[in-house]
Amino acid sequence: GLPVVAIVGRPNVGKSTIFNRLVGERIAIVEDKPGVTRDRLYGKGEWLDQYFHVIDTGGIEFGETDEILLQMRHQAELAIDEAHVIIMIADSRTGVTDADLELARMLNRTGKPVVLAVNKVDNPEMRAEIYDFYTLGLGEPYPISGSHGLGLGDMLDEVIRHF
Ligand code: GDP
Ligand code: MG
Repeated sequence: GLPVVAIVGRPNVGKSTIFNRLVGERIAIVEDKPGVTRDRLYGKGEWLDQYFHVIDTGGIEFGETDEILLQMRHQAELAIDEAHVIIMIADSRTGVTDADLELARMLNRTGKPVVLAVNKVDNPEMRAEIYDFYTLGLGEPYPISGSHGLGLGDMLDEVIRHF
């Protein structure tokens, strides 16, 4: 089958925005059952003639809990199980948070390739904001803007390098 790319990260960092950018109209499954209500979950992406499945893990709600860390942990476990490559999204506007650090630690332990993308870098002057994200220990942070469609090519070059 096609390689699977999972998108993980805290709520509101822009996971679904990036997912929609990567997948466009190529939605394979639109989930509409209880527990999977918020977002489109699975889609097909393409970059340089390489096709892959994309999972927006943030669209998956686990049970009753509202607890961010618990949700993220579940998402990360799912991503770790299913994905060949994981994209962790962080938010340049909030900087590095404790939840980012916890998620990064989990992902680091898996041995799966992780590409770190720092979203909401909407203009080149904001690129300096990304350096703190080296502290997550996931290598080079890729500045992107989901809403403006910036930086996604460099991020995807790195993603498909791991297929
Ligand atoms: P998710 O909860 O991680 O899936 O995040 P969403 O994709 O739903 O985005 C959360 C909020 O951030 C929304 O209001 C988006 O419009 C906004 N957002 C997403 N990407 C960007 C971006 O690149 N720049 C800015 N300024 N806002 C963004
Ligand atoms: Mg979402």
